[in-house]
Amino acid sequence: MAQGWGLSAKLIVYVAAGAIATSVAVGFARVQNERSQLSKLMSNTGQNMANTTAAGAASLVVGYDYGNLEILARNVADQPNVMGVTILNKNGRTMSQAVVNTTKQYRRFKAPIVFDGAVIGSVAVDVSTDQLEMAIEELYARIVVEQIFLGLILGVIVYIFVSRGIVSRIHSLSETMEATINKGEPYVAKEIEVTSSDEIGRLINVFNKLNEQLAENYDKLNTKIDLADQALRNKNIELIARTDELENALEMLSSMATTDWLTKLPNRRQFDEVFEQMLSQAERYKERLSLVLIDIDNFKEINDNHGHAAGDEVLQQIGAFLKDTVRRSDSPARLGGDEFAILLYHSDEQQAEKLVRQLLKKIKSHVFNFGGQNISITVSSGIAEYGAERNTKQSIYFSADKALYAAKQQGRDRYVLFSEVPKEA
Ligand code: GH3
Ligand code: MG
Repeated sequence: MAQGWGLSAKLIVYVAAGAIATSVAVGFARVQNERSQLSKLMSNTGQNMANTTAAGAASLVVGYDYGNLEILARNVADQPNVMGVTILNKNGRTMSQAVVNTTKQYRRFKAPIVFDGAVIGSVAVDVSTDQLEMAIEELYARIVVEQIFLGLILGVIVYIFVSRGIVSRIHSLSETMEATINKGEPYVAKEIEVTSSDEIGRLINVFNKLNEQLAENYDKLNTKIDLADQALRNKNIELIARTDELENALEMLSSMATTDWLTKLPNRRQFDEVFEQMLSQAERYKERLSLVLIDIDNFKEINDNHGHAAGDEVLQQIGAFLKDTVRRSDSPARLGGDEFAILLYHSDEQQAEKLVRQLLKKIKSHVFNFGGQNISITVSSGIAEYGAERNTKQSIYFSADKALYAAKQQGRDRYVLFSEVPKEA
């Protein structure tokens, strides 16, 4: 993971910087310490050498024994690292000198020559510092190697602890979260184990709590959505039922507006509309059209003698006869009360007459039984045909009505063609 590498890389840099800084500081301190010890050791050795030489030289200076002074100087000069020895009298004059090499770096150690409590001269021993410098250089090299090695070990240890204790735990936390997101899950399914009470432990604890809240809220939300869904479904079912009811009611209403409730025939309103359409079609296509009006004879008597229900039954039966007798292109209707009508398309008076004759026969031959009493019903009918002098609804209706009136006048139970109605009638 990019984040994990980032943190690890930073950690390596921090640890390396820390280890190097520590090593440098420790190394510097060690070098300083060893250097001063070496330097001290050298000082002691050089000073001792000067002191011993001064002690040996005292009697020789007093006796002006230049020969032995020279031997003494030479012997001291032959000692390792000694560059030169100079023996001076109390006036600072050189009494003996042995020089090995003057080009090298050296340190001069001086000691007074004392005889009987009095200073009678001095000794200067020059000791080479080359070896010291070399030893210090070696020391540097050794300490650098040692410190690098120590720094590396320290770095590795710190890295392992910090990496295991911090980086890998943060890494596994972020991996868990990433896996959850990749799977498209709304929250981390399993609680992450808390293995310590440090900051990372607290971080995981807080994460677990937040995750728990998230899961709870998610569940609550889902429950709410389910409830809302259910409520919506119920409302929808209710709505569908209501819509059905409404559609049925509308259908009923529209059929009520156009249909006679008792006979289920079209009512006067519907009849008027159909009449209008048929008339315009007849005009347009030069077609024939006839209107038949039918009125039950003495219908009041049925109501009076056998009751209104019997009257209704008669009306229904007449309606049924009308429906059975007419052709598909004809249009029967109940105009109101005991008055019926049939519009016959493609039919002239004679064709209408044929149909009416059949119908009258059918009605008359039917036997109604009211309260054990057999009764026959008759009807009267008037027929008028659409023509040049009768080309409006009103005029055709008026003509058919006139013919019907004539049929009643002539004694009922008959039909009359308008064309045959006497002019004075
Ligand atoms: P006419 O031979 O001259 O036609 O005599 P009629 O007795 O049939 O007289 P008319 O046609 O004027 O009378 C119609 C009667 O029909 C009047 C009314 O009481 C009755 N009526 C109208 N509508 C209904 C109905 O829906 N049911 C019943 N039972 N009677 C009705
Ligand atoms: Mg009548």
